[in-house]
Amino acid sequence: MATDKNSLLFERARALIPGGVNSPVRAFRAVGGTPRFVQRAQGAWFWDANGARCIDYIGSWGPMILGHGHPRVVEAVQRAVLEGFSFGAPTEREVELAEAIVQQLPSVEMVRLVSSGTEAAMSAIRLARGATGRSRIIKFEGCYHGHADALLVKAGSGLATFGHPTSAGVPPEVVQHTHVLEYNNATQLEEAFAEFGDELACVIIEPIAGNMNFVRASLPFMQRARELCTQHGALLVFDEVMTGFRVALGGAQSVYAKQLPGFAPDMTVLGKVIGGGMPLAAFGGPRALMEKLAPLGPVYQAGTLSGNPVATACGLATLHEISQPGFYEALGARTRTLVAGLESAAAEAGVPFAADCEGGMFGFFLLPALPQNYGQVMKSDSAKFGKLFHGLLDRGVYIAPALYEAGFVSAAHSDQDIADTVSAAREVFKSL
Ligand code: PMP
Repeated sequence: MATDKNSLLFERARALIPGGVNSPVRAFRAVGGTPRFVQRAQGAWFWDANGARCIDYIGSWGPMILGHGHPRVVEAVQRAVLEGFSFGAPTEREVELAEAIVQQLPSVEMVRLVSSGTEAAMSAIRLARGATGRSRIIKFEGCYHGHADALLVKAGSGLATFGHPTSAGVPPEVVQHTHVLEYNNATQLEEAFAEFGDELACVIIEPIAGNMNFVRASLPFMQRARELCTQHGALLVFDEVMTGFRVALGGAQSVYAKQLPGFAPDMTVLGKVIGGGMPLAAFGGPRALMEKLAPLGPVYQAGTLSGNPVATACGLATLHEISQPGFYEALGARTRTLVAGLESAAAEAGVPFAADCEGGMFGFFLLPALPQNYGQVMKSDSAKFGKLFHGLLDRGVYIAPALYEAGFVSAAHSDQDIADTVSAAREVFKSL
């Protein structure tokens, strides 16, 4: 194994970096084996430290919607780098990026740019609390909103009880205002509002949850959440860090608005695609709400690298490409071809399989039907998933190394890439 450069690098990494990685899911803990150390990437592919090529369905966990190294994005970044890395003073590109975001999301009149989805979600919650003068928040089991203390919570024993921290180092007092409910459970939501609706600052939700693989909030559930928030003066916060500019140009909220006329969240959290692979995220909403932020209002929020000039150049160039007519139609069709191919490969082998997709985001389960909440997602057979993951990886197909993660197709995935993926899956399914 001395010639396996991934293993050698992993050994060096583990000596210096906890678990050898700078974000836990990269470590392959759920599936076992050695993480691939990426040397370079182009289009839909990356090459690992051994020079082995993989078709990439992670795409940096969502940002790389154009594939890696899109020439016009690379050019924009190169130009920006020559002009300066960071100024800590306002730039025209921040205004342009804000304009580009506001143009696509009718529910957003103003945005604040930050550097990570964690920061964006944390700041959105602070703003919701500051604007309403209330402390309690509701989140849903299986949704991830970054690793701010108050959001690292799992369900408690009942509605009225607080959630429990999911991480050591988060004091119970810090999560005492966070209630964790079951996704897609309107009855629980109604009970929670009946009990403490007038003390709720916000309900935060991933409208299409990508952190328990791929689970849609049902239309009736979403409609009820909207009604209850409005009725009780709580803000409905859409965490579209993953879905924003990924499932549609107008994000998941546009998907719901198509079926529920007039539907809109009160606040939106963005990340990933808006930075095109650079550290950039944002949160936004109506003017009156956003003007409660410092320096205009009493809710403090700040960042040394916020609106970074290289990151905004990358984000702007990316948004320019994905705003071209027909972009999402083509991306959605490609993703559907992949999903249909996987479905038929699984069916041929008699493997229970259910899959869903929207735009350039997809998910699949080794289950007979699509799950509706975290408990159902976790019924997936993780041993079987591990075999599927490694079988695909051995055949040059890189999907997320955990069964609770979504997958991403980019505009750079060719028909041949999809066909190669499906034939790899066909072989692996037969061996399961
Ligand atoms: N919200 C959602 C929905 C996410 O998927 C993520 C990251 N996967 C985050 C927030 C946190 O973003 P970041 O990793 O940039 O802090």
